[in-house]
Amino acid sequence: MFDKLSERLQGVMESLRGRGRLTDENISDTLRQVRMALLEADVALPVVKTFVESIRTKVVGQEIDKSLTPGQTLIRIINDELIALMGAGVRPLNLRAQPPVVILLAGLQGAGKTTSAAKLAKWLKDHERKRVLLASTDVYRPAAILQLERLATQLGIGFYPSDPSKPALTLAREALQEARRSLYEVLIVDTAGRLHVDAEMMAEIRAISAEVMPTETLFVVDSMAGQDAVNAARAFGEALSLTGVVLTKTDGDARGGAALSVRQITGQPILFMGTGEKTDALEPFHAERVVSRMLG
Ligand code: GDP
Repeated sequence: MFDKLSERLQGVMESLRGRGRLTDENISDTLRQVRMALLEADVALPVVKTFVESIRTKVVGQEIDKSLTPGQTLIRIINDELIALMGAGVRPLNLRAQPPVVILLAGLQGAGKTTSAAKLAKWLKDHERKRVLLASTDVYRPAAILQLERLATQLGIGFYPSDPSKPALTLAREALQEARRSLYEVLIVDTAGRLHVDAEMMAEIRAISAEVMPTETLFVVDSMAGQDAVNAARAFGEALSLTGVVLTKTDGDARGGAALSVRQITGQPILFMGTGEKTDALEPFHAERVVSRMLG
């Protein structure tokens, strides 16, 4: 991820590194280049604007750190602001609720919800020793239900066999009943996605959410998606009380716009990132690591 953006930003950093003095013009020029690099990476315009402005404010109000050159100071500010943009620290899944703890996944079709549902289940099984039940409410694509069943079977994880002739809401209710009855500790509910946000889909997922009362409502977003992801993030954020984000396909050569925009757009932290198609390709999201790779 971020290949192109990294290249651009590293170029900017390189030109700053040796500088002993920065004129206003140097600073404006750097900010212009950062702004262009972010826009090229498909970061949402309002996010870019706020980001560049906050760097400008920090540069102007900076404490003089005698151990750093002005160029290094600007690099440090850009570094810190990139981390802040994606969220510092790691936010673990909240599993403290009364079991079964429900995790609801939302997002556009193809974002990676079904794959992420299986990856999260495996993660919880391996790292938290939880008994997890996977359920799909995607009655529009029976193939998606089968895909989840196949993954669950491979991983030795519980699967609720959804009958696609029933309404999605009924399936969600039944899956929760099954999780309670069989004493599962976590229920992960995969939902239908459309290629574009539509009112019917939003009404359905809201109803499912009201039924299963999730502790975590995670917005799953493809890091390769640009403006589409931003629109979806906004729409899901308005319809649901999102609690976090799963960023998928970070192993691709994506421009990375969604990764940089999604936290600010949803106001929620990125909890995990998907790093491949396999079910073990999931990592807790560390903005510090991502940024240090990005800036080289
Ligand atoms: P859904 O429609 O949101 O349920 O999306 P799927 O889970 O079916 O994923 C769509 C495609 O993206 C599938 O081919 C997945 O294998 C692929 N995919 C999901 N997550 C990742 C990831 O982190 N990296 C890569 N390379 N592919 C992924």
